[in-house]
Amino acid sequence: MRTDTGQIVNLADYRPTDFVLERVDLTFDLHPTETKVEARLIFHRREGSDPKAPLVLDGDELVLSGLLLDQAELPTGQYDATPDGLTVRDLPESTPFEITITTVINPEANTQLMGLYRTGGIYCTQCEAEGFRRITYFPDRPDVLAPYTVNIIADKQANPLLLSNGNFLGGAGYGEGRHFAAWFDPHPKPSYLFALVAGDLGVVEDTFTTMSGREVALKIYVEHGKEPRAAYAMDALKRSMKWDEERFGREYDLDIFMIVAVSDFNMGAMENKGLNVFNDKYVLADPETATDADYANIEAIIAHEYFHNWTGNRITCRDWFQLCLKEGLTVYRDHEFSADERSRPVKRIAEVRHLKSEQFPEDSGPLAHPVRPTTYREINNFYTTTVYEKGSEVTRMIATLLGRDLFKKGMDLYFDRHDGQAVTIEDFVRCFEDASGRDLAQFSLWYHQAGTPLVTASGTYDADGKTFTLSLEQMVPATPGQAVKKPMHIPLRMALLAEDGTAITPTSVSGAELTDDVLHLTEQAQEIVFHGIPSRPVLSLNRSFSTPINLQFNQSAADLVLIARYETDHFARWQALIDLGLPNLLQAARDVRQGIAVNCDSAFVDALLAAANDDSLEPAFRAQALALPSEADIARELGGDTDPDAIHTARQAILKRVAETGKDIFAALYDSMKTSGPFSPDAASAGRRALRNAALSYLSHMDGAPTRAKAAYDAADNMTDLSAALTILAHQFPDTTETAAALEHFRARFSENALVIDKWFAIQAGIPGPEALGRIQRLMEAPLFKRSNPNRMRSLLGTFAFANPTGFGRADGAGYNFLADEILDIDQRNPQLAARILTSMRSWRLLEPVRADHARSALVRIERAGGLSTDVRDIVDRILK
Ligand code: ZN
Repeated sequence: MRTDTGQIVNLADYRPTDFVLERVDLTFDLHPTETKVEARLIFHRREGSDPKAPLVLDGDELVLSGLLLDQAELPTGQYDATPDGLTVRDLPESTPFEITITTVINPEANTQLMGLYRTGGIYCTQCEAEGFRRITYFPDRPDVLAPYTVNIIADKQANPLLLSNGNFLGGAGYGEGRHFAAWFDPHPKPSYLFALVAGDLGVVEDTFTTMSGREVALKIYVEHGKEPRAAYAMDALKRSMKWDEERFGREYDLDIFMIVAVSDFNMGAMENKGLNVFNDKYVLADPETATDADYANIEAIIAHEYFHNWTGNRITCRDWFQLCLKEGLTVYRDHEFSADERSRPVKRIAEVRHLKSEQFPEDSGPLAHPVRPTTYREINNFYTTTVYEKGSEVTRMIATLLGRDLFKKGMDLYFDRHDGQAVTIEDFVRCFEDASGRDLAQFSLWYHQAGTPLVTASGTYDADGKTFTLSLEQMVPATPGQAVKKPMHIPLRMALLAEDGTAITPTSVSGAELTDDVLHLTEQAQEIVFHGIPSRPVLSLNRSFSTPINLQFNQSAADLVLIARYETDHFARWQALIDLGLPNLLQAARDVRQGIAVNCDSAFVDALLAAANDDSLEPAFRAQALALPSEADIARELGGDTDPDAIHTARQAILKRVAETGKDIFAALYDSMKTSGPFSPDAASAGRRALRNAALSYLSHMDGAPTRAKAAYDAADNMTDLSAALTILAHQFPDTTETAAALEHFRARFSENALVIDKWFAIQAGIPGPEALGRIQRLMEAPLFKRSNPNRMRSLLGTFAFANPTGFGRADGAGYNFLADEILDIDQRNPQLAARILTSMRSWRLLEPVRADHARSALVRIERAGGLSTDVRDIVDRILK
């Protein structure tokens, strides 16, 4: 394990390598515990670089067992090899040379799941960001690009399948029951995109004909017997390939595209050139075992990794500070894909919910960092929602500022200008400046300034002058390392609505640029006057969440109700309902704490029920409207002194109030939204199930007994309905025989299916209340619990720490202490996973003093433990700072 060296990497220190890598030739002699890797690397000295500079290669836990220079042994004085580096001196000044490196590695012992490891009896790799250096000594950085030839030798019976990047060259027997295969990837790539898979897997095959008429072989490899569950992933892949051609003009560039699903994986998936490796959670689906959310995730992640082929692989990052260059852009692309394939407003609502619940807390806490950071200690800790989701929002804003056509022109220029290169955010932004003629210097602050801007708005109507004056102010909060901020360029989509809900178009506007419906806030404070406004307008601001800000705008309930009823932008309708509900939830939480009875404004309840009951709206939208802000959302909005129990009690009271008022509507929806015929995962059917299950949840809130939920569980004929009913039973009626029976039935029915058993663990990990910890500890003793499997750990520990505020945050601090012990234990095997779960404590300072104290002690205990990984050390230090 890489333990902390205290080394910090700074963007300002970037410089190109002294040597240019021309070619890579790798030979793997696979063995579960002793795999021999021979790397032949051809280099030449970069023009203009120091003619005496040594070649310095990265390593991580490596042992050198052979080294040749142009096929000849090197005198020991000419090189130094340590586990984390190889330095070779006295190399030719002007001619290319070949270095041959032999290492022996142990895939079976690789529990970090970085580099070459074993999962479910197969060999697989994960090299992003710095896993390749765990395979061989190498210039392991994204700006070193080369074509790769890969030879794989392995036992034929155990590993009939030998895969790597690019196109298949050929294979043959190799004697003694072994065989070999050779692959060649002609597209120069950085080492983080290298992949190798070997083993015995089943395959689903198809083909795709590209826009220029080339036929591409498509293969998805899964465990034998699971082939039928890969059909939806294949369908999503073909739709992704088509969409990227139509929307971005991007064609696939190899003869074959492969996806391999593995059960032990630290992240969602990985875009290795021509050979994507996936967490099987994001490949396998059928109606019996996958929820609608699973289907939507599979579609989005298949698309995401496929889209990386252009945004990430053909054009890659110069250094890891530029991670958002590929991730922010590719998330934007997969969001657009899902919006086109499904419902755009519903997709947008889901994105914003996710952004607010995951990225906003990050951006306002100790782990806040710019979308394009300038310093890091452990790059694995920068695969964050800020880099991914805020990075996507920044890309979306460029599209908003430029409009669809100029954005397209900028993207075309980017693909044209930088194909085959490793570039920076500045290079990316310049393409849009050059394509549009717009100066994006101020806009670029979105990449460099951390923190969620706060925009304060207020409006006044002058009936005599027929003007509406809007005052806007912006403030970007201080974040670690950035005390003072400059005003940003904030594109706010907006509309003015008349009392009857129709749009009002001003005759002219002064004080800000307004292009179509986009208002440009560029100063710290701006006063914008809309002329020719015949009656008092209702302002709908930040339509479709055009900019990722906190908006403070005290609108009356009546104005919000009007927006909720008439806005043509359905995202804005949903936002108005949230804005109506949130003050009630916040006040309720305060009241519970004061021991006052909870109250709820009927304007909010009525508007919510009106939306739920509006047949002209799509069911998926209505389901989103019914999903109140989470307990974590309420805590964030309260902004400190968090008492999770009070928030829970308050939210339950409001849910009950909505349930009682709307019981007839919910009962009618529960009947009318039933889908008939065979299951289909399409967005419309999924929306009906979501609305029906939302209705069931409300009905259960007033039932007081699990009868109805149990009946729903018994009647369910797909995983969406089954897991929704089980969640209601477990979370609302935890200590009943009905719930115990359903949990046991579910376990027994799905005990052979790891992904479904993950749901079984997650549902129980989310049961609120102080008994949660004991339940978690008992579940960890269950035969089905598997510490080495990241999905299982995230299901149980991740759900507990991230999504069970009353259980994890119980008042005596036992939850935090328990997590600290677990983090220290996980860190010994899988630092990435440990660091990720630890980020659940990033908002500890917002807790009320007693809990905050317990949380701090637990964190300090981690901080003081010896032998921490760089990953955990980096997170715990920053969280405590
Ligand atoms: Zn990605």
